[in-house]
Amino acid sequence: MQPLLDQHGRTATDLRVSLTDRCNLRCTYCMPPEGLDWLPSDEQLTDDEVVRLIGVAVQRLGVDEVRFTGGEPLVRRGLVDIVRRVRALDPDVEMSITTNALGLARTAHALAEAGLSRANVSLDTIRSETFHQITRRDRFADVVEGLAAAEAAGLGPVKVNAVLLRGVNDDQAPELLAWCLERGYHLRFIEQMPLDAQHGWDRDAMVTADEILASLSAVFRLAPASEPRGSAPAELFLVDGGPATVGVIASVTRPFCGDCDRVRLTADGQVRNCLFARSESDLRLAMRAGADDEELAERWRAAMWGKLPGHGIDDPTFLQPDRPMSAIGG
Ligand code: SAM
Repeated sequence: MQPLLDQHGRTATDLRVSLTDRCNLRCTYCMPPEGLDWLPSDEQLTDDEVVRLIGVAVQRLGVDEVRFTGGEPLVRRGLVDIVRRVRALDPDVEMSITTNALGLARTAHALAEAGLSRANVSLDTIRSETFHQITRRDRFADVVEGLAAAEAAGLGPVKVNAVLLRGVNDDQAPELLAWCLERGYHLRFIEQMPLDAQHGWDRDAMVTADEILASLSAVFRLAPASEPRGSAPAELFLVDGGPATVGVIASVTRPFCGDCDRVRLTADGQVRNCLFARSESDLRLAMRAGADDEELAERWRAAMWGKLPGHGIDDPTFLQPDRPMSAIGG
């Protein structure tokens, strides 16, 4: 086993796999109302190709955590089967999903039974009208149902990821936390990043970690959690003395690139060594040209070796990547 090292002393062990660039929501901070030009189907990895590349990562490159994402991973027809096949490859790999939970009520049980370990659900508000405003879809009740189904199926601890938008839901952090605490969900706020398809991100409009913490502190007593953070992106705070916690993922104002252990595989088979990378390594083409598993592993190692020390959002020369978040896999 030769792991995924880079030149700055980091080892990637956490693989985010995008299963599709399509999504059934249209969050304003992610994509335009009409959606995007989706990947042509012949450019998407087949189920067999996805499982093969995950096998290379787990068996040859030391990856011990696999997270399915998208787009919306639940819209991928072969999802349950992919989970089952990855679990058969490795009984110990931690396998989770990041989802908007639409349809999760129908599939949570099958996913758990196939070997999925956990679910992370994205939910930015508990007000149905704000949900509609942000996602451009009237589906709040489905998300609530999906969350409950994930918990009931044993896909816990269920994490909830929320993005706050100024003037839209930035006054709703405490109510979202209270709602999650009541249900035992672990809430984490994510700072909005320059990864939207419309290139509309504005640093001054972004709700910062400091603002989120101030807003929560008006209602809850927060204290930094004592457990070491390691490579986890979320800074955790004990709520009202604990044991419940709330997390803040401050990718922009408190970057944690020095501890990053993540690597990404897009739905069309490109390795990205960073969310903000401006280059990719094409494993799909190599695989379809007949590369064997060790050749694929070697290309993957080479792609990681070139990972930059930081995402560079604060550099004057920063350029947003060509792919939006939905096509990279968040
Ligand atoms: N559809 C799935 C979901 O909703 O969780 C997975 C993909 S979605 C791109 C993953 C996460 O990225 C969601 O929590 C979403 O809120 C977040 N996200 C999308 N665009 C973002 C941005 N510009 N900045 C920060 N988070 C973003």
